[in-house]
Amino acid sequence: MSSPVDLLIKNASQLVTMPAPPDRPRSGGDLDEIGLIPDGALAISGEKILAVGPTTRVLAQVEIGPDTTILEARGQTVQPGFIDPHTHTVFAGWREAEFSQRLRGVSYLEILQAGGGILNTVARTRAASFEDLLASTLAKLDQFLLYGTTTVEIKSGYGLNRADEIKMLRVMEAASQLHPVEIVPTFLGAHAVPPEFQDRKERYIDLLTREILPEVASEKLAQFADVFCEEGVFTVQESERILSRAQELGLGAKLHADELAATGGAELAARLGAISADHLLKVSRQGIEHLAKRGVVAVLLPLTSFFLRAAGFAPARTLIQAGVPVALATDFNPGTSPVQSQALTIGLACLKLGLSPAEALAATTVNAAHALRQGDHLGSLTPGKQADVVILNAPSHEFISYRFGTNLVRTVIKKGRIVVFQGRLKLKGRGDGYEP
Ligand SMILES: [Zn+2]
Repeated sequence: MSSPVDLLIKNASQLVTMPAPPDRPRSGGDLDEIGLIPDGALAISGEKILAVGPTTRVLAQVEIGPDTTILEARGQTVQPGFIDPHTHTVFAGWREAEFSQRLRGVSYLEILQAGGGILNTVARTRAASFEDLLASTLAKLDQFLLYGTTTVEIKSGYGLNRADEIKMLRVMEAASQLHPVEIVPTFLGAHAVPPEFQDRKERYIDLLTREILPEVASEKLAQFADVFCEEGVFTVQESERILSRAQELGLGAKLHADELAATGGAELAARLGAISADHLLKVSRQGIEHLAKRGVVAVLLPLTSFFLRAAGFAPARTLIQAGVPVALATDFNPGTSPVQSQALTIGLACLKLGLSPAEALAATTVNAAHALRQGDHLGSLTPGKQADVVILNAPSHEFISYRFGTNLVRTVIKKGRIVVFQGRLKLKGRGDGYEP
């Protein structure tokens, strides 16, 4: 025995460990092996997990001192913090009026032609000050934390010019300094063709590859680059040009692929060795084989299909059977998924994608970590991993999908520190600071 542990959770009715080889995400039949420990305990020292196992064994293994915080988790489930590997969290303005229009039968094209859709968000995000964008981003991160999400990927892509794309990335940088939720920034300058380049797309791609991407890379403002590869937006060839350039500059590649039509986006993601291919509603058989062969993570976004009342959902079971590692994300954005709850994603993944509760939980923790190249330290509750832990007011993990409209999160621990307690934020400088 060494020094006393800082925090101990004990007597959890279920402790979900998600044990995983650190070098690869789960696929095929491994996806639902979530490492359940009944009557589980978990000990934290500093920012890391020190011990995990049945309560009696952990109590025998660790030292408890007068300063050790002890959390009793009888009747509750303990799991890794949710990771959301695909969001567009930095934006100004919501689009609730368009939602009503869509429900009345107005098409997205008509909305777009009237200056709405993504162009609405681009105009408002360009007009927003850095301070206003930062304040609204911090409020959104608070909400993620209350839902048990401890790490989020966030994409730029509502600036679509040098100054405003950099502004979005700087907001993410500042928010990571101020907020416990960990942010993985992705550059998505190729989210849409900006209005002022409507007939000069080539010129915009030149701007991205020659000016903006090199600046993003040299300032270390993003870990990944992403492209909206879709009919009428960026072609496979254009996406390849942008992402190859990003890779030359040291960024990882991600791709919005095969959402509305099978354009060969999945094949491109595999060819580039992208870390993930996202959406994939229309992915081809060949695309699935290529993803499996290269181990590209398929990030599926069922909330978007649901919110858009799309004709179908991504072929999750086919992807899993083919050996493609599957992760799940909210796609949080003001137009097509104004939703931040990974529990809701899990509910839809079970009901609409055919995943089991265990598979969906793996897809929002360990595999989501791998979709961000963070699987070596995030996504599982095993000794040595970062202590990002959620305690749910639920006797088993099945309750997440079963009661998916209810926020069951009671306690959230980020890097060993309690940041949500009894369902309320406990953040320094805001709220009343939890003293154990
Ligand atoms: Zn997206």
